[in-house]
Amino acid sequence: MIGRIAERVSETRLWDRLMTMARHGATAAGGVNRQALSPEDAAAQATLIGWGAALGLAAATDAAGNLFLRLEGADRDAAPVLTGSHLDSQPSGGKFDGVYGVLAGLEAVEALIEAGVRPRRPIEIVAWMNEEGSRFAPGMMGSEAFAGLRDLGEIMRVRDLDGIAVADALTATRAALPPLPELPLGRPVAAYVEAHIEQAPLLEREAKPIGVVTGIQGKRTFRVEVTGEEAHAGTTPLVERRDAIIAATAMVQQLHRTCAASDQQVMFTVGRLVAEPNAPSVVAGKVTFSIDLRHPDQPTLERLGDAVPDICEAARGSCSVHVAELVNAPSLEFPASMRERIRRIARELAVPSLDLPSLAGHDARQLHKVAPSGMIFVPCRGGISHNEAEWAEPGHLAAGTRVLAALLAELAS
Ligand SMILES: [Zn+2]
Repeated sequence: MIGRIAERVSETRLWDRLMTMARHGATAAGGVNRQALSPEDAAAQATLIGWGAALGLAAATDAAGNLFLRLEGADRDAAPVLTGSHLDSQPSGGKFDGVYGVLAGLEAVEALIEAGVRPRRPIEIVAWMNEEGSRFAPGMMGSEAFAGLRDLGEIMRVRDLDGIAVADALTATRAALPPLPELPLGRPVAAYVEAHIEQAPLLEREAKPIGVVTGIQGKRTFRVEVTGEEAHAGTTPLVERRDAIIAATAMVQQLHRTCAASDQQVMFTVGRLVAEPNAPSVVAGKVTFSIDLRHPDQPTLERLGDAVPDICEAARGSCSVHVAELVNAPSLEFPASMRERIRRIARELAVPSLDLPSLAGHDARQLHKVAPSGMIFVPCRGGISHNEAEWAEPGHLAAGTRVLAALLAELAS
């Protein structure tokens, strides 16, 4: 059964569609500029709707501007299995980020149809609205609205740099598409699977065509304000100073030591450090610095993040310190059963796989809150992404699609 479905996946058909999609917003340097709800995005959606129609897939949308193509199930009332990603790109994005997940879904469904598989549950290919968040920030708008994590009215009021609101850009996008029925937000989903390029170099380095994504790395960010006292660099004895730079750098060093001692997966970055008055002959009276802390394991992220205020307090010397947490997005782990299915299908198809966390965020983060979810990664050259040079091998893209097709058949049976 798995083999019969997999052999229907066409590497050339998938590749041709990827290259056709890459013309919508093509840049001179071989990349893609197809920002959310732009004319290029609308053209890509129209192309997708056309390909779906040729396969008998019904297109629909919802109030958030997500696009769905539905393969009807034997049980029309059963909650659908969803698969997809996003069609929008960064201003200087590549040909594969997002669009691969959507077209892998289409290719997988076409393979199921050709193999004569009639799933019990409907299968829907989805293109989530504005994943990237480059034109309208922050991104993940479609999947957050779908999962009920963000207010739709608030999303519609977000404006781009030209002052155009999401609501108006969405109206323009709809006008460029055939009329589509509107599905309710928050309808039940049986499962969600997202195929995506890895955007990191691990699969390529290990020569594994399939990544079984264990989860999505979480992130905590902080702003630390260290207050000392401005003083004359030539007349104030060291013991009497309240030097905010000395205190802040002691904190940074201790935070770095603590994180580095934890394990190899921790990401710790102080990317911004501002001293005041920032003058060569004045002892700094104030330093503000940022902390960006990431780890795929939630207990570790919690432990290290919770330690930040105490470490700063212990290193403050004669200065005072105030720590504010700005972002706390927990790490998540996809269900073990989903990961096991992906691993087993890859094994049955004789494609080597590797378990690995996603270091970047994806729409699957939101879907994970409402349905059993999983992700399939394929390698991309040098791990380069969000870049016009982004590249993935046709054979790897097809291998990921074969695993996806077999997985969809199982989840929808
Ligand atoms: Zn993406």
